[in-house]
Amino acid sequence: MTDQPKSSEGSAAPFGGLTIDFGNDSPPAADGAGKPSGGEGFGGFAPIAILQESSPAGAQTRASGPGTSPTAPGGRESKLLIIGSGPAGLTAAIYAARANLEPIVLAGSAPGGQLMLTSDVENYPGFAEGIQGPELMAAMRAQAERFGTVFVDADIEQVDFSGRPFRVWARGEEYRGESVVVATGASALWLGLESETRLRGRGVSACATCDGFFFRDREIAVVGGGDTAFEEATYLTRFATKVHLLHRRDTFRASKIMIDRAFKNPKIEIHPNTAVEEVLGDAKVTGLKLRDTATDMVRDVPMEGLFIAIGYRPNTEAFRDWLEVDDAGYLVVHDETGSKVDGVFIAGDVHDHRYRQAVTAAADGCKAAIDAERWLESQGITEVATATAW
Ligand code: NDP
Repeated sequence: MTDQPKSSEGSAAPFGGLTIDFGNDSPPAADGAGKPSGGEGFGGFAPIAILQESSPAGAQTRASGPGTSPTAPGGRESKLLIIGSGPAGLTAAIYAARANLEPIVLAGSAPGGQLMLTSDVENYPGFAEGIQGPELMAAMRAQAERFGTVFVDADIEQVDFSGRPFRVWARGEEYRGESVVVATGASALWLGLESETRLRGRGVSACATCDGFFFRDREIAVVGGGDTAFEEATYLTRFATKVHLLHRRDTFRASKIMIDRAFKNPKIEIHPNTAVEEVLGDAKVTGLKLRDTATDMVRDVPMEGLFIAIGYRPNTEAFRDWLEVDDAGYLVVHDETGSKVDGVFIAGDVHDHRYRQAVTAAADGCKAAIDAERWLESQGITEVATATAW
C-alpha cells in the first residue's frame, strides 16, 4: 500500500494549510496495549462473556477453592477483602487465595477494570502475539477463582475502617474483612461527546503508551493543556508524522519545561483556544469538528486519530473519610502498599498516577497481598506462612 499525500480538497485548509496524508486506507489505528482506552467499540472485538449474574442479595459465594468454605455463612466474612477487580485486585486475589486467605473480591458492577475497555494488549509480558484486554482479565479472574477467591459483582457503597473487622457495604450487604486491599483504580476523563464514545477503539484513545504504536506515520491530535497532554503529545511524535495539541484556553496548566519541550518539537503543533465539538468518521476517525473558543468559528479538519488527555479521576470517593488522599484525589501509600490504617493496603492506579500500566498494577496487587498476609501473621490472625505459600 502506498501513502499518496493528498491535499484536503473541498475543505478549508486545515491548520493553516497543512497538507495531511489520507492516502492510507489501512485499518484505523485503534486501541492498543497495556492500559485502556475505554469505551464500547473494542476495535471490532466482541467482548467475551465472563461476568457472572449476581444473586439477588448481591453476593457471589462461589467457593471453588481447595477444600474449604472460603467464607462465613452468607459468604460475607474473610481474612481479606479486595475492593476492585482490575489487574491489581485480581493479582492480589491470586496471591491471597494461594496463601489461604480465602479472599472476597468486591469486583464492582462492571468488573475487570479499564482493560475491559481496550482491545489489543501488546505490552503485557508473556503474550508474544498480544491478547485482548477482556480475555486477559477473564484469565486473571479464572486463575483467582481456581484457588478459591469469591467474587461479588457489585459496587461498594460505603466502608468503615474504624476498627477490625473492617466493614464494607455493597448492594446493601455488609462484608467484613480482617484486612483490606483497596484496588479501585482510576478512570480516564472523556470529553463526553457521542462521537467520541462511538469511535473509542477506532482511532479515539485515552492512553498514548498503550495505543501510540498503532498510529505510526499518521497525523493525530491530543486534547488537553496539562502535563499529561504535553507528555503524551511528545511521546506520540515517536510514531505520528504530526501531533496537533488542542487546548480550549490560551494558557496551559502543564509545567514550563514540558511546554518548552513541545514548542521546540517540530512534529508538534499547538492550537490554543481550540475545542473539539465532534469526532468525524463512521468506522474510524477521519476528522475533527473544531471550535475556536475565542471567535466561536467552527471548522472541520481531517485527522486520523484523537488522544484524550484531560486527566484521570481516581476512584477514591468511598475512602476519603478513612484514608489520605493527595491534591489530585489519589490515595497516599506508605511503605510500598500501606495506608494510614493498619491492615488496609493500597494497590494499582488508585494511588499510581505515574505509570498506570496493567503490569505495574498487577505487581502492586502482588505486593499488597504479600503485605496483607504478613500483617495478618503479625496480628496472629493467620499462621506464619512458609516460603512456598505464594
Ligand atoms: P490536569 O488537570 O493538570 O489538566 C487537565 C487539562 O485538560 C487541563 O488543561 C484542562 O483544561 C483540560 N480539560 C479538562 N477537562 C476538559 C474538557 N472537558 N475539555 C477540554 N479540555 C479539558 O490533568 P493532567 O492529567 O494533565 O495532570 C494531572 C496531574 O498529574 C498534574 O498534577 C500533573 O502535573 C501530573 N502529571 C505529571 C507528569 C510529569 O511530571 N511527568 C505527567 C502527567 C501528569 P483547563 O486548563 O482549561 O482546565
